[in-house]
Amino acid sequence: MERRDRLILVVEDEPGIRRFLAQLLRCEGYRVLSAGDVESALRAVFKDRPDLIVLDRFLPDAEGTEVCRRVRLDAALAPTPIQMLSACAPQDPEEQARLAADDYLSKPFEAEEVLSRVAGLLRDAGVRGPL
Ligand code: CA
Repeated sequence: MERRDRLILVVEDEPGIRRFLAQLLRCEGYRVLSAGDVESALRAVFKDRPDLIVLDRFLPDAEGTEVCRRVRLDAALAPTPIQMLSACAPQDPEEQARLAADDYLSKPFEAEEVLSRVAGLLRDAGVRGPL
């Protein structure tokens, strides 16, 4: 599958970081949607069914983990890879499991690191089967 066919949802409440991530991913050839809170993220997830979600952990209306939880509960959406971003990385495997994301990246992050994690998760998802 070509990158231009891949739709990525960026969920981040800080406008500067949200714009940076969207532009970074668009430059790589992905299609990008963005949301600034959990409520609009969930609307976009159920309406547009993104291939991957880049998710900030702390959002104004709820924790990003609420997006993970709702995605994992939906049979069709459950395999969607989630790359979580957080200023505080999970401390141990238990906390990591509780957060229910596929991968974590601590803020501040490098552009190259985001792109390589996203590409890796999409590759793994492709191995798991069509999304
Ligand atoms: Ca935040």
